[in-house]
Amino acid sequence: MRHFDAIVIGTGQAGPSLAARFAAAGMAVAIIERHKFGGTCVNTGCIPTKTLVASAYAAHVARRGTEYGFVTGDVRVDMKRVKARKDAVSGRSNKGIEEWLRGLKNCTVLQGHARFQSSHTVVVNDEVLQADQIFINVGGRATVPAMPGIHDVPFLTNSSIMDIDFLPEHLVIVGGSYVGLEFAQMYRRFGSEVTIIEMGPRLIGREDEDVSQSVREFLELEGIQIRLNAKCISLAKRERGIAVGMECDEGPPDLSGSHVLLAVGRTPNTNDLGLDRAGVATDQRGYIVVDDQLQTNVPGIWALGDCNGRGAFTHTSYNDYEIVADNLFNADHRRVSDRIQTYALYTDPPLGRCGMTDAEIRKSGRAALVAKYPMIRVSRAFEKGETQGFMKICVDTETKQILGAAILGTGGDEVVHILLDVMYAKAPYTVVQRAMHIHPTVAEYLPTVLSKLEPFA
Ligand SMILES: Cc1cc2nc3c(=O)[nH]c(=O)nc-3n(C[C@H](O)[C@H](O)[C@H](O)COP(=O)(O)OP(=O)(O)OC[C@H]3O[C@@H](n4cnc5c(N)ncnc54)[C@H](O)[C@@H]3O)c2cc1C
Repeated sequence: MRHFDAIVIGTGQAGPSLAARFAAAGMAVAIIERHKFGGTCVNTGCIPTKTLVASAYAAHVARRGTEYGFVTGDVRVDMKRVKARKDAVSGRSNKGIEEWLRGLKNCTVLQGHARFQSSHTVVVNDEVLQADQIFINVGGRATVPAMPGIHDVPFLTNSSIMDIDFLPEHLVIVGGSYVGLEFAQMYRRFGSEVTIIEMGPRLIGREDEDVSQSVREFLELEGIQIRLNAKCISLAKRERGIAVGMECDEGPPDLSGSHVLLAVGRTPNTNDLGLDRAGVATDQRGYIVVDDQLQTNVPGIWALGDCNGRGAFTHTSYNDYEIVADNLFNADHRRVSDRIQTYALYTDPPLGRCGMTDAEIRKSGRAALVAKYPMIRVSRAFEKGETQGFMKICVDTETKQILGAAILGTGGDEVVHILLDVMYAKAPYTVVQRAMHIHPTVAEYLPTVLSKLEPFA
């Protein structure tokens, strides 16, 4: 049995940095990866999707050439080259992480599936490793719902769609949330016919209704078909493609496409980890239960990243690493509950979000002000010819602190950080109004938006 000071399971967005931190402190650490170094973000999530989004955006702008004063002719996308570019960008990160870890002094890199044997031992490739501290960073995978026909058709997920080097004639996407919408716009811009099937009454149902509506409008303008209140209940093989059966009140109850992408949520990779042998508790959905400092119910075992259900993003996983590392190495008592929710949806235009939605604020019953401003009145957006969307900011009436914002518009994923930082500083929104911003930018309009604050209707 080999002994280590720490064992890290998984090389997602928290594990590698944590292993490096132990190694830098002169402690012996083992890190175990069963598949690709870098996990979801690097191989099948953020990095490849945003690389593909960039190709799709370039094609979209090229098609609008005449609006901008240039001629391109017929724009056709070469999917082999699109995939090659994506593989190169993603591969660079994947290789970089592996090389970094293998180059670390005091760090042992093992490839294989890790399983707990007890609360302090883990088995990998028939070898038993022991450590007093074990960190789980095993992430998640696309949920594949049980339904008739699911085993009879070659459906796609966010992982398998990464291998596509051809243009699907008609891509049917089951799930109208973040992952589904990014693929929908991207493939429409590559040239596929695209249909989204969403069981809820609107797209991205966690967002405010005006956000969902605006996103729906710009996707439909690009020719994406959207079926709402339509629950996918079966899949079946057809001579040319796949039929999706739906439970719905309106429209035909089935629809055929050449390919089907399932984008209906994520499942944590915790069912094959031997957690019962270690006595680690999970919730009903399989997420590992952690406290505010990411410790599980078993002393000496922590869970970081998507598998703890406390976040579903690269930045939340990396923040988990910072919390654990600061608690262990710096006696800085950081907590998950100190962080402010923030994320982006990488459609074009993107949605940058921070804090509470306006629906959440209304539900909380606190007195608040809201301001909304259309992107068509933002000169930078107008100059770029990208005027879809709006900015919305909510503020606490008493404290004058920002409670939340949705910046749906060009640059929204970057602009939202101004508001986020003011929120972390617990400063009043008036700070944004007194700052001098650069012209012409989207950010320079934040003071204008804030000047429109009114009590919630
Ligand atoms: C299509 C898509 C797009 C996304 N886009 C964004 C985005 O734009 N921005 C953003 O912030 N987030 C995005 N995300 C979410 C983001 O990818 C994840 O939140 C992020 O990767 C954090 O993952 P993690 O650190 O929990 O683990 P992961 O990255 O999932 O890594 C876990 C690793 O553990 C390994 N592993 C699992 N079980 C074992 C075991 N038993 N033994 C050994 N190894 C094991 C896995 O092979 C994997 O490499 C996206 C996700 C998807 C699916």
